[in-house]
Amino acid sequence: MTKYEVGVLGAGQLGRMLAQAGQSIGVHCRFFDPALNACAAEFGPQTKARFDDLSALEEFCSGVTVATTEFENVPAPSAAHVEKLVRFFPSVRALEVSQDRLSEKTLFRSLGIDTPKFAAIDSLADLQEAAALFGYPAILKTRRLGYDGKGQVRINSATELEAAWATSGAGSILESFVTFDREISIIGVRSSTGEIVFYPLAENLHRDGILRRSIAPAESIPETILKSAQLALHALMNELSYVGVLALELFVTGDRITANEIAPRVHNTGHWTIDGAITSQFENHLRAGLGLPLGSAAAKNKSVMYNILGTVPDLSVFKEFPEAHLHLYGKVPAPNRKIGHLTIVQGSDLERFHRALSIADVLFLG
Ligand code: AMP
Repeated sequence: MTKYEVGVLGAGQLGRMLAQAGQSIGVHCRFFDPALNACAAEFGPQTKARFDDLSALEEFCSGVTVATTEFENVPAPSAAHVEKLVRFFPSVRALEVSQDRLSEKTLFRSLGIDTPKFAAIDSLADLQEAAALFGYPAILKTRRLGYDGKGQVRINSATELEAAWATSGAGSILESFVTFDREISIIGVRSSTGEIVFYPLAENLHRDGILRRSIAPAESIPETILKSAQLALHALMNELSYVGVLALELFVTGDRITANEIAPRVHNTGHWTIDGAITSQFENHLRAGLGLPLGSAAAKNKSVMYNILGTVPDLSVFKEFPEAHLHLYGKVPAPNRKIGHLTIVQGSDLERFHRALSIADVLFLG
């Protein structure tokens, strides 16, 4: 089998799972990340250098078939430099757009994809004006470098505006608060040959902005929602000349979808695909970038994925459940850090599947 060498910017758990998926299809990954204890390094050599070290990037790219990223905040100029040296996917533009919530939401609107109301905030006066227009509650977010709910403040009334401004400051975005029924995501893959596949929708539960649980395929979703989610993702992939896995996070209210954000990489709400889909998002991301035919994105059955945050609890109970698949990332435990996940895939014993879920719900959701 041909051995492909894929250079990955970033060496966290997403890079680690890309490398694991690559092992079975003749793909070897190497990583570029300044971090000292990067957890992907167990699966491929790591260049430890800053993302703006252009000569280190050049050395890294020599001998690489294609390069990609597992980290959307790779500085766009570094990705642009990589793109001059070797074929880079998904695309520099996709990174640029998703790194700034304002350009992201502006792009959604330009493609006819619904978003919360939003306004750029660069002064307290901007904030007061936009909040008066949107009403309360509203959410003030940093435009750049916010993730897992970091860099966000919910504003419940006009009396909270000054305090919110003090924590956030210029370079922010105010969004109207969406009183959604459910949060879902759709993950699609577009190959360099233009082939596209969509995974089933996942229903996601966040707490304090952090993903805790994904259920896939999401249950009782009207066909219209599935179709509009696929259309939105399709439009984004085409507009961005996208190659690889793209995730779109959506709020569902009645039969309407409102776009929250995109992630131009493999995504936490697609981790269930390792055990629960015919082809995992990680394998399909690699296939897409290498121009190999994409694998089926169909679910084998219902899957429920729980993030393991902070420290690993006692998981010995899951030994009784063959449908439970544990993934630990080899990361140093820290409060709220994603250090692993557990996916429970429905098998023929429905009663046992539900028993496993009720134990996991208590353990991981409290
Ligand atoms: P984000 O970092 O933008 O993905 O936001 C993290 C989580 O905060 C989302 O998954 C939602 O649960 C919540 N959230 C973000 N933006 C909004 C909004 N405009 N309205 C309601 N909830 C939101």
